[in-house]
Amino acid sequence: MPNIDNNITHVQRRLQQAARDAGRNPEDVLLLAVSKTRSSPQLAEAIKSGITSFGENYLQEAAPKISELQKHRLDWHFIGPLQSNKTRQVAELFSWVHTVDRLKIAQRLSDQRPKNLAPLNICLQINIDQESSKSGFTAEQAAEAALAIAKLPHLTLRGLMAIPKARQDIAGQRVAFTKLRNLLDELNSLLDKSQKLDTLSMGMSDDLEAAILEGATIVRVGTDIFGPRH
Ligand SMILES: *Cc1c(COP(=O)(O)O)cnc(C)c1O
Repeated sequence: MPNIDNNITHVQRRLQQAARDAGRNPEDVLLLAVSKTRSSPQLAEAIKSGITSFGENYLQEAAPKISELQKHRLDWHFIGPLQSNKTRQVAELFSWVHTVDRLKIAQRLSDQRPKNLAPLNICLQINIDQESSKSGFTAEQAAEAALAIAKLPHLTLRGLMAIPKARQDIAGQRVAFTKLRNLLDELNSLLDKSQKLDTLSMGMSDDLEAAILEGATIVRVGTDIFGPRH
């Protein structure tokens, strides 16, 4: 069994070093542990090592873990493809959704967010490399979507998320992340002061340094915490 505690220490060090290299405060970057395919006992190990936020891709898989680990008061982030028929439960169980790729999904999440809970935090997924295999708004569609979603009452639009193409070199990796950061700045120039976006969800096991250098505020790391997925 991989040593989750050691892995987390190592990823935290990479995160801190990248933040320092960027002249940023490491505390401004959240390490989101991506726990798809991992069991509750594995998540419990990560909790012991200080993880408080988990990212899950599939509602069916996440729901029992959320219930089993309830006493830890965790933050659950939905980071998978989201279909209309799943929005109600996602709005009830999660505090963040990173993968809003249609206005209709955002409207349903707002309507279905329980009124006793804080507004649901939302990122727009952007198809930054314009790949037909990936979902997300194009950069051109993002402004109209952001202006509409920022008005929905039970959501807080926080920022942008992307999954760029895998690239080997850090310079190449940074290009896509720069685009996402520039798009965030552009949207912020259109939104009211009270609605400013503060979140860039970008960077995974293989490219978290490049993402932090370009301003990532949430890095989503699975493999380098829990080991390879089978
Ligand atoms: C699985 C997944 C990750 C984690 O990727 P690793 O390479 O295992 O770190 C991050 N973001 C999303 C959206 C994912 O689906």
